[in-house]
Amino acid sequence: MTDMSGDNKQSDDFENVPVVSCTRCGREWELTYELDELQAGNRAVEQFALDHERHTGHLPDDISPWIADCENCPAGEQFLSKRPAKRWAVTHARHTYHSIDLISPDGDEKTITSDDSRYENSN
Ligand SMILES: [Zn+2]
Ligand SMILES: [Zn+2]
Repeated sequence: MTDMSGDNKQSDDFENVPVVSCTRCGREWELTYELDELQAGNRAVEQFALDHERHTGHLPDDISPWIADCENCPAGEQFLSKRPAKRWAVTHARHTYHSIDLISPDGDEKTITSDDSRYENSN
């Protein structure tokens, strides 16, 4: 590689490529694919974590999900922040009248019911 002159042009946009590691896989990944191909921007880590869970069944290191898990049907999703998790739960309750367990990364559990869908902006 010594014949490369100092003109090795790199995109300035991606000079701080996030790196995610997973001890279960014993690997780490630079998120260039998420940034470049998926245009995930500042959600690249979240996108990667959710894809990792989807394909391997576990989340990478340092990722603690919010879990929305329906009590009445097999529906359920994991999210990396409260807002989309709650929105999913409230929306599911709104359409199905099911009750959904919303579990925080700390293990706090809250049940969302169709009543909560009337108060979407409440905490
Ligand atoms: Zn892994
Ligand atoms: Zn359900």
